Formats: sequence, C-alpha cells, structure tokens
Amino acid sequence: MLSQLLEYKDLPSIFLKRGAEKRIKNGHFWVFSNEISEVLKIKPGSFVSLYTYNKDFIGIGYFNPHSLISFRLLGKDKILKPNFIEKRIELARNKRFYSEEESFRIIFSEADYLPGLIVDRYQNHFVIQTLTAGMENLVEDIIFSVDKIFNPATIFLKNDSKVRELEGLPLYNRLVKGKSSNIEAKFLNTFFSFDLEKAQKSGLYLDQRDNLTYLEQFDFKNKVVLDLFSYFGSFGILALKKGAKKVYFVDSSKYSLSVLEDVCRRLKFSNYEVICLDAFDFLGQMIRGEERFDFIFSDPPSFAKSAKEKESAYRGYVRLNERCLRLLKEGGMLVASCCSHHISVERFYESLMEAAIRSKKEARFIHFGKQSLDHPIILKFAESFYLKTFFVIVD
Ligand code: SAH
Repeated sequence: MLSQLLEYKDLPSIFLKRGAEKRIKNGHFWVFSNEISEVLKIKPGSFVSLYTYNKDFIGIGYFNPHSLISFRLLGKDKILKPNFIEKRIELARNKRFYSEEESFRIIFSEADYLPGLIVDRYQNHFVIQTLTAGMENLVEDIIFSVDKIFNPATIFLKNDSKVRELEGLPLYNRLVKGKSSNIEAKFLNTFFSFDLEKAQKSGLYLDQRDNLTYLEQFDFKNKVVLDLFSYFGSFGILALKKGAKKVYFVDSSKYSLSVLEDVCRRLKFSNYEVICLDAFDFLGQMIRGEERFDFIFSDPPSFAKSAKEKESAYRGYVRLNERCLRLLKEGGMLVASCCSHHISVERFYESLMEAAIRSKKEARFIHFGKQSLDHPIILKFAESFYLKTFFVIVD
C-alpha cells in the first residue's frame, strides 16, 4: 500500500534518448524500451520519474524492465498523493452516464488515467483486472478503494489475461469479496448468468453496447440472422427479442454457448441454433449450402495481438468479411467489427472494400460504430481507440 506522498526527486530516474520526448509530451502515456537511455534493474512496476535527455522532468509513472512498454505515465505533477487511486476511481464514477442498474465499465486504463487497470461493474458485482506489473503492485489499494467507494456484494480479481505474460506476471483469478464467482448481470435488459472464473476477458463484452443500441431500430421480423463469434449472444438475443425468424449462434467456446442457451431457455425462445465450431469452417459449410442471411454480426477476437501481425490480420479480416458478404441475401446487412488497435479505421475500411470486390457484391456503408462511451477514446492516445464496427448493406 502507498503509505506516503511520492515526490519526483525521491524516485529512481529514467532518462529518454535524445528527441524521444515528443510523443509523451504530446499526451501519450507510454515509453518503449528502445526510447530510454538505460534500462534500470529495479523491481517491475516500481514508481519512477521520467526525464528528457536534457534532464527536464516530464512526469511520474511506473517502470517494468521486462516489458516492451517500459514506462507508463501516471501524471505530470511532481507529486503523487497516497490516495491517488481512490481519487481517480471516484472521478471516473462521477463522469459515467449509465444507471447503476446496468452493467458498464468504470475504469478503462489510460483513458481513466490508470494505465493497466480495468474495472467493470455488473450492478453490485465488480470485476478488477490488473494487466501490468505497476498495477499489480497496487492491487490491494485498488481493492480497498473499490470496496470503499461502492461497497459491492462481489469483488472478483480476474487476472487470467494473457497480456499479463508480456509483463512477466502470473495468471490467476481470485474471489476477493462475496459468496461466489457465479453472478447474474443485466446488460441492455437481458440477464446473463455466468461464472466469472470461466468467462472471457472481464465477463461481458460491454464495449458493443452502443452498436447493439443502434441495431434496435431495425426490423428483425421474419429475418434469418447469423451471430458469428457470438460469445454470450448479445447480438443474436437482441434479434430474437425483436422477432427474428431464426438465429444461428456460432462460437468455438462451449462455455459461452451454454450461457447463451440458458438465456434463451429463460426467455422461452426455440427458434435458434447453437453451433460450436470454428467460424471459418462454419462459413465454408454455409457457402456450400443454401441458407442465406438477412443479418450477419461478425465480432471476432483480435487478429492482430501485436504490430508484427498487422498484415496477416488484415488478410484475415478480408477473408472473413468476404465470406460474410457472400452469405447475405439481397438487402441484407453485415455488421463487421474489428477490436484490434493495431488495425486502424482506414485499414479496416480497406479490408471491407477488398472483401466487397472479392465477393463481387455491391455494398453500401451506412453507419460507423465504435466502442461504447464507457470505454473512452483519448484523442492523443490512439491505442485507446480499438473497436471499429461498420454497418454495411448489400444490394
Ligand atoms: N459478439 C460477442 C463478443 C465476441 S468475442 C458479444 O457481443 O458478446 C469473440 C468470440 O469469438 C469469443 O466468444 C471466442 O470464444 C470466439 N472465437 C474465437 N476464435 C473463434 C473461432 N476461430 N471460431 C469461432 N469463434 C471463435
């Protein structure tokens, strides 16, 4: 726990190479290992002060000698108060727009000035992820602050994300407060019951909320719908609720399909099929068959986990969206998402253009969607802009 005020001059110093300060001075949060003059052999996640090559103070942050992202900025003030975590969580809580009856993200990492920290709220159940060594060192402070501010029924530390390995951190989950890791979450008027141990990421994919809301205006009566990479089925369930004739849910994760089947059972739907299969295999089978769709929702996991994979990821999005376009009926709509920040909006647009050319379909781009507003995008920190969703209609 932070017991006292941190002053910049008492912390280990990190010096940037000549000219490397531009990005961080312009509002970015990271410094890469090749941008600093010396990698200090200090405990991963330690607080440090960052300076330019000419020894001008830039800010306080934390440092990990084992990570490609060596430094993450916590602030440009010369001090860091012992209660800074609590203050920032309070700040984030006060600027949110959603009712506490709903599920939404409270802390989105750098966008809430807490790099490496995610806090999601499912009514009275809170999920915390510390994704960097710096945040891992502060985990008790974070738990204390969340408990103090919200007094939740459940606090679950979901630290099984692979990105932690890049920081040299172990993967684990821990029920910190509450009776069980099984929770019920209300998201856009649907109740999902699931086990936080078995869920992906931090539980629900809350980032799709605004895209789901946009879809509510469309007429699903008598429509045939494909929810590809469905996870718990947020998209397909919306279509069923709006009177779709039939929904196909496809995901390679058995557990996620069992959660969505439970939702459908409770809502008394029977006009759906659940298919546990690789999405590309499924698309191949469908192309050889007769069935065509009025709506296809495609929301794959990130194809580019690092910058190195950009090009192969681009090809993956082309292949995927080409097949989706081919499977649409005339007038059908593809809702194509990309959740990798390594693929820019322009690049994803290009992949859709190439998919349209290859599928020989006339397609109109009618709406652009992004991650919902509880996942704020910092203009000066492009990495915070990751989810891009194009709504496309074929003629
Ligand atoms: N649309 C969902 C979120 C999808 S997340 C929602 O709004 O809740 C991506 C999903 O793709 C995960 O559920 C994962 O299990 C699934 N997945 C990953 N690789 C896959 C593959 N090759 N084929 C099918 N599903 C896959």
